[in-house]
Amino acid sequence: MEIKGSPQKAILKMLDSRLEEDFTYNSGRIIGSMCTHPHPLAKKVYARFLEKNLGDAGLFPATAELEKETIQMLGTLLSNPNASGHIVTGGTEGNVLALWTAKKVSRKTHCEVIVPASAHRSFYKAADLSGIKIVEAKLDRKHQVDVADVKKLVNSYTIAVVGIAGTTELGAIDPIAELSELATQEELYLHVDAAFGGLVIPFLKDLGFDVPDFDFALPGVCSITVDPHKMGFAPIPAGGILFRNENLRKVAAWDTPYLAGGETEQATIVGTRSGASVIAAWAVMKHLGRQGYRKIVKKCMGLTLRLAEEIPHIEGIDIVTKPTMNIVGLKSDRFDIRRVAHELRRRAWAVSLFPNHIRIVLMPHVLEEHLEKFLEDLSEVANQLRG
Ligand code: PLP
Repeated sequence: MEIKGSPQKAILKMLDSRLEEDFTYNSGRIIGSMCTHPHPLAKKVYARFLEKNLGDAGLFPATAELEKETIQMLGTLLSNPNASGHIVTGGTEGNVLALWTAKKVSRKTHCEVIVPASAHRSFYKAADLSGIKIVEAKLDRKHQVDVADVKKLVNSYTIAVVGIAGTTELGAIDPIAELSELATQEELYLHVDAAFGGLVIPFLKDLGFDVPDFDFALPGVCSITVDPHKMGFAPIPAGGILFRNENLRKVAAWDTPYLAGGETEQATIVGTRSGASVIAAWAVMKHLGRQGYRKIVKKCMGLTLRLAEEIPHIEGIDIVTKPTMNIVGLKSDRFDIRRVAHELRRRAWAVSLFPNHIRIVLMPHVLEEHLEKFLEDLSEVANQLRG
């Protein structure tokens, strides 16, 4: 650290210049991320309540109450107003908490969890941390988990099954109803990773899209990850973990007796944690309401369907599958898809690259004009690669 400090104005100027090379959502160039800029109200609220710490909830009981209400709003959206849980750092922490809970509930030492081959890396982190073996189930042609394969993989060590409602790679929704039946029959813990889809699918349903059940309406579902900092327009960090009931939420809670507020329970992985992001998530959800989110999803889906329609007109590029939500996979039988991604990145498009496809996510910050420009550039890249 320098001995001599600098005036605030100078620091701010320095930061403006130092951070210039970062991508911005407003530019529309970030088209491969599941995050977006927070809602303007969320920004205001976040800045106003920065000092709140839910790691010591006894000091901030009113903030803790807003967290309960936020969970209740999410629970109501996911067919269970009595769900219990926390706003956490992200989908990763949500999934870690879910597997940890499943392990503690099972009381087993050698544990296996069956996840779809499309599972997010966070499950592998969770398993590594909790000493769980991950067993991957195959996907079918629709990129959903093959339930027959899941059934085959169940053995005496299996403690839990994971289903995904909105896969990271393509936004596919696993047959959660069938997984719920299986979990009930075999007395297994079922966790649904709806980190992205949880704040999309209910609104798709409202809009008349044909989407399957995936939430607590299905009796086998024990917990759901759903992230306000993805399609919820809330500032980072705002993931969400919802348990079917309070008893499940408390399984991974720890007594932390030294806390100044006198409330000793901590039930998240981290101790000190942002109350501001919880309050901001609460504010944006209260403000937008179901109608507001529906409108956002409608706009995102409009652009998604337009992109999916236009891609087949670009020679050499195709879509992986008809999009279920605002995620489109681009593939090529003709070019190495990594070269396509490389050329797009050279043209300052922040696309996401998987082994066999490029992922485009039509988040709320992506506007029609951005999509037009992207299609133009993609056509040029295809022309260039055709030579
Ligand atoms: N689950 C799914 C389905 C995801 O797509 C992601 C991230 O993209 C996560 C979990 C992890 O979320 P986070 O990056 O907020 O930890």
